[in-house]
Amino acid sequence: MTSLTCHGAAGEVTGSCHLLECMGQRILVDCGLFQGRDALERENALAFAFDPASIDFVLLTHAHLDHCGRLPLLARRGFRGEIIATAPTRELTRLVLTDAASLQEEDAQSNARKLHGPAPPPLYTLEDAFHAMDFFGRRAEYGRDIALAPGLTAHFIDAGHMLGSASVVIDAGDGAHRRRFVFSGDLGNPGRPLLRDAEPPPAADVVVMEATYGDRDHRSMSDSVDELVGAVADRIEHGGNVIIPTFALERAQEILYHLADGIRQGLLPRTLPVFLDSPMAISATETFARYPDCLGEAARERLAEGGDLFGLPTLRFTRETADSMALNRIKGGAVILAGSGMCTGGRVRHHLEHNLWRKNAGVIFVGYAASGTPARRIIDGAKTVRLFGEDVRVQARIWTINGFSAHAGQHDLLGWLRHAAPKKAVLVHGEADRGLSALAPHVEALGIDCVVPAQGERLTLD
Ligand SMILES: [Zn+2]
Ligand SMILES: [Zn+2]
Repeated sequence: MTSLTCHGAAGEVTGSCHLLECMGQRILVDCGLFQGRDALERENALAFAFDPASIDFVLLTHAHLDHCGRLPLLARRGFRGEIIATAPTRELTRLVLTDAASLQEEDAQSNARKLHGPAPPPLYTLEDAFHAMDFFGRRAEYGRDIALAPGLTAHFIDAGHMLGSASVVIDAGDGAHRRRFVFSGDLGNPGRPLLRDAEPPPAADVVVMEATYGDRDHRSMSDSVDELVGAVADRIEHGGNVIIPTFALERAQEILYHLADGIRQGLLPRTLPVFLDSPMAISATETFARYPDCLGEAARERLAEGGDLFGLPTLRFTRETADSMALNRIKGGAVILAGSGMCTGGRVRHHLEHNLWRKNAGVIFVGYAASGTPARRIIDGAKTVRLFGEDVRVQARIWTINGFSAHAGQHDLLGWLRHAAPKKAVLVHGEADRGLSALAPHVEALGIDCVVPAQGERLTLD
């Protein structure tokens, strides 16, 4: 019997963790962290609803924390199988997990100071993160079969979502008995300069598909680039700073790429100081140049022309904390990119604290903001936001530009699904009252049986 149980990203966006039991093998597709509301984040500390020691393989679709972030817990709790991912995913996952572990250790220490005594331990430590990395085995190359067990193979195809991202295709059995399961992972928004578009999936029996933006289409990329450059120009003209909370992977690099274009076209001053204030984003930026084969055509051409992907004359990297703190003294005229994208942690919170109350400043949101996060509250028009225990007034101008989304919109999701033409589609990685409920009727209209599973619900796939 083949079965599927979603242990995360079921009726919500984060915590992707799907258990496929097939031909005697127990395969996890992703093992991500729950992020957002406190109650949701507390779930991370709970025991897995399956025995980690019983898992044979983890097929990791990409390096975002909501897909890889519980791997250190899986390893600490007994997993001894093999983690399979593409080479860039493996490299970026190391960055993401060590960064997450450091943040958790810092938070635990500051909680201990506040409580003047024993505080809850970090969810996991740097040591746990490195331990998890030891289980990475074979590297997946796009399009090449990897044998998991006799009669059971997997191959990865480009998902166009971030560097190294993949959808996973699993083939079970031979000939007339063959069954094919496809996990979309996160699907990219097509037409982005740094990445290739998602590869259409092969025909499949069952597709497990993300539905983050199942309820809408994005604005076009060129409109979004115009809006970004216009917003930056406007705030700089008013003498303010521009804060761009960014996900360190992909989005930060994409924004740098577009700012460089804006300068090249004379829409932004050549002297515009741009700070990338995120050690992880800086490292990730270096990773990009190492995998030219995985890049989109525009980026590869630019690399071939002269080497510098981002080409910003005034780009500065602030790796050290002291350099980051020095940015707080800049009253206006600079662009600061810092994480985290949803403002739940990281250096961006300091920049918000120093700029949100300034009327001439701007905050530009360029990514997904889950409900319950500070980013979402600001986007939804909150008058104040709580940062470091104090309420900060929101007087800066706020932009939300969703055309940079790393996720496919409704039209592209359905187009991708049509290629696989499955009998059954399992929709995950979406909010129940948004992406999931909006997409399901469209899937059914294609004549595909559509299931939106609850967390822990076991679906029989025979
Ligand atoms: Zn992702
Ligand atoms: Zn995701």
